[in-house]
Amino acid sequence: MKFGGTSVADTDKIRNVARRMVATHETGRPTVGVVSAMGETTDTLAALAAEVSPRPHPREMDMLLSTGERITAALCAMAIEDMGHRAVSLTGSQAGIVTDTRHTNAKIVDIRPKRITEALDAGMIVLVAGFQGVSTAYDVTTLGRGASDLTAVALAAALGGDCEIYTDVEGVYTADPRIVPDARKLARVSPLEMLEMAGSGARVLQLRSVEFARNHGVPIHVRSTFSGTEGTWIREDPSMEDAIISGITHTVDEAYVTLTDVPDKPGTAAGIFNAVAAAGINVDTIIQNAVTHGDADVTFSIPRDDLPLMTDTIEGLCRVLGLHWGVDDTAGKISMIGAGMKSHPGVAARMFQTLADHGINVRMIATSPIKVSCVIARDKVDEAVLALHDAFQVELELAQSGAAHA
Ligand code: ASP
Ligand code: MG
Repeated sequence: MKFGGTSVADTDKIRNVARRMVATHETGRPTVGVVSAMGETTDTLAALAAEVSPRPHPREMDMLLSTGERITAALCAMAIEDMGHRAVSLTGSQAGIVTDTRHTNAKIVDIRPKRITEALDAGMIVLVAGFQGVSTAYDVTTLGRGASDLTAVALAAALGGDCEIYTDVEGVYTADPRIVPDARKLARVSPLEMLEMAGSGARVLQLRSVEFARNHGVPIHVRSTFSGTEGTWIREDPSMEDAIISGITHTVDEAYVTLTDVPDKPGTAAGIFNAVAAAGINVDTIIQNAVTHGDADVTFSIPRDDLPLMTDTIEGLCRVLGLHWGVDDTAGKISMIGAGMKSHPGVAARMFQTLADHGINVRMIATSPIKVSCVIARDKVDEAVLALHDAFQVELELAQSGAAHA
């Protein structure tokens, strides 16, 4: 059972979380709780670091950030003990989460949950501080922002259980309910669809946790901390036909970098993206146009937060390769996701038509077998999501009801 920051934002909420874990434990199931830092604690800690150093040392950053989840885990364990049950809190390191040495964005390399299983065998409820581990060099590491989800999924894989992600929304919706008032909660989403959704702006689950769950066959149940209702299951269901459209996602957190005068010869793309990767920047969409006059244009999206990091890298590249560059920080991206579109032509055409009917210009298009994304003006994103939700209402209703029959 994983509880996010809003679910443990104050001590009343922590006691509520403790009660939920006790209730689960009382049904006879061995129970492990993974907790996030309280509310905005991680942001507050990061801001403190920025006050003492413009470039905080990554090892020390991890020492600092890992404390947020430890506070919650300890308080939660105290609350459970107070309810007459036995509980023990563990750091990521004590829980046996071993990572590589890449501070602030470490990867899990091994899980040795001996202390967890011993405590479970002794009848205790185990609390694990989320989003952290211990490196192969014995230092505290953190797994990247939002990675308490990953801790939970990884432990579920290692211990052999389901993973319940408790959050401040009721589940995964056909679109962001803040934009689309009649967005519907999906009963089930396939892991591949969830991967595309998480990668294209759905905020409900961290991308890496979905990848991990998919690779290890861990079923995830995303549900509300504050109500008892069923949420959304992320798991395979071979007995069902794939929905043509399961959801519409959007992001306004990307900037688009365009390189011009890119030499048309082998190794150029490799040179560009090696440099970008070396700077630790995650590139999403990449588009290179057809070469008509000897040079190419290459456009790619990066997280807006990484723009400052990007500048040095790109300027260096431009000097070496004789390129020019520009940034578009006025765009957003909308995506339609559905495993059934693989075998159902025409989704992209209808998407473009809907946008055209609303006078919305498409700047870039990218596709995967189960996703179509369009980059458009950022201030048109809400309108586009609403319009698409309306245009594909029939398909989205089928997705919701079909899944409900599962
Ligand atoms: N507290 C960490 C963050 O805010 C990890 C998490 O909550 O998942 O990124
Ligand atoms: Mg989160």
